[in-house]
Amino acid sequence: MQQNRIKLGIVGVGKIVRDQHLPSISSNGGYELIATASRNASIDGVPAYKDIATMLASEHELQAVALCMPPQYRYEAARAALSKGLHVLLEKPPGATVSEVEQLAQLALENGVSLFASWHSRHAAAVTKAKHVLAQRKIESVVLNWKEDVHKWHPDQDWIWQAGGLGVFDPGINGLSILTHVLPEPAFVSRASLLFPQNKAAPIAATIELRTPSNIQISSEYDWRQTGNELWTIEFGTAQGKVEIKDGGANLLLDGLAVENIEHSEYGEYESIYSHFAKLIHSSESDVDLAPLKLVADAFLMGDREVVEAF
Ligand code: NAP
Repeated sequence: MQQNRIKLGIVGVGKIVRDQHLPSISSNGGYELIATASRNASIDGVPAYKDIATMLASEHELQAVALCMPPQYRYEAARAALSKGLHVLLEKPPGATVSEVEQLAQLALENGVSLFASWHSRHAAAVTKAKHVLAQRKIESVVLNWKEDVHKWHPDQDWIWQAGGLGVFDPGINGLSILTHVLPEPAFVSRASLLFPQNKAAPIAATIELRTPSNIQISSEYDWRQTGNELWTIEFGTAQGKVEIKDGGANLLLDGLAVENIEHSEYGEYESIYSHFAKLIHSSESDVDLAPLKLVADAFLMGDREVVEAF
């Protein structure tokens, strides 16, 4: 059992690595963390390198890497790892552009290794149940609200405000990752409006209107200026009643009543991510769904822009 564990490296040791990746890797049992690459950070007892090139050149037993640095800096690292025959897990969003991730998926295929563009919110406790419920109903309308306090969740993260950091869509894309997973048909952007602080290259708030081929109307609002009553919800009006995904996918309400038998655990989303990654590795398959990133890219492509006060 011990020698079958996947020898893993982590790149970009920051908040999400400490909060979720490390406990989930430990509890999985199918991985052995043998190295990290991070310019300033390290993990006690694990060989540490300053960059991925040095890690790949030194750690010949590595089989897989989890790339957890900001999305703008992931492509070259992913390319280096895939080219060396390593399996790659990408944190969300999988990259700074749609086309670079498509190219990485092609490279993974050519090298016979797995690329996993992870969307952690799709692994939240109530999401599978919600998808199952919605598959049996006629959806008439959808309202998505992803509103939180940026001061609380992203203090001192400069990359998030830079081009490619996605601004309010860094959390907002989590909502879209759930929406695109549970909707029984694809959605596309029909109108968008983005608010940019005058001193930032990424939006602080946005609205996106979407629709589907069968004309389901979807309205969505994203705001980082929410100081109380934070919202991570998707409400579906259906011919058979209301379906609400609450708390970022942790809870589900049917006609206002909570579905009770949903199992919650502190590291559940990332434990599920690492289980899925192991399955992909063992079957040499990839899982790269770019639907959420394409919707955000399309909002940037065709959205109205308004400049608001400096942040
Ligand atoms: P973070 O705390 O800022 O950590 C990212 C780490 O990447 C940094 O500590 C830094 O470590 C490394 N890095 C490498 N190149 C960098 C660069 N040019 N600029 C800044 N950092 C660089 O960010 P995070 O919150 O962990 O988020 C990382 C990714 O995970 C993002 O894509 C985010 O959307 C996703 N995510 C975050 C959360 C969350 O709650 N925070 C939840 C889910 C997903 P060194 O300085 O040591 O190189």
